Amino acid sequence: MYFLWVRRKILKFIGASFLTFLLFPFKFVNSKNIKIINKNLTEKQKNILFNEGTERPFTSSLLHEKRKGFYHCVNCDAKLFSSDSKFDSKTGWPSFTTALPGAFKTKVDYSFGMKRIEYHCANCGAHHGHVFDDGPGENGKRFCNNGLCLIFKPSS
Ligand SMILES: [Zn+2]
Repeated sequence: MYFLWVRRKILKFIGASFLTFLLFPFKFVNSKNIKIINKNLTEKQKNILFNEGTERPFTSSLLHEKRKGFYHCVNCDAKLFSSDSKFDSKTGWPSFTTALPGAFKTKVDYSFGMKRIEYHCANCGAHHGHVFDDGPGENGKRFCNNGLCLIFKPSS
């Protein structure tokens, strides 16, 4: 009798774990390496940073930002991009030809049936965007970043 009870418990546990994994695969995989540092993030920002969401194109106020300065992570304040690498990609998201050295870590993202390279803040682990091989600069890269994940600090 005790054996059957234990077996039932184990099967129930396996079933629940499997179901959780099926329903929340991204949360399951990502919750490990992310540090939530900024306590004032909005729901939209959290969805992008921690659930790999994407903001609607042409909604970011940073699209038209042309001043000299640096773009920081909205979660942990790490310096990610220089204004020198910003360009207008016409895609509707703030775009950069290169990131500051060591700013990001990349991983392959297979969602929506596409193979894309996704990048995360190296300091806090938050998702910022995807990098593509059709950029206009020397290295041919285009960092397509959600504006809601960035804080611009102009150099005065
Ligand atoms: Zn960060």
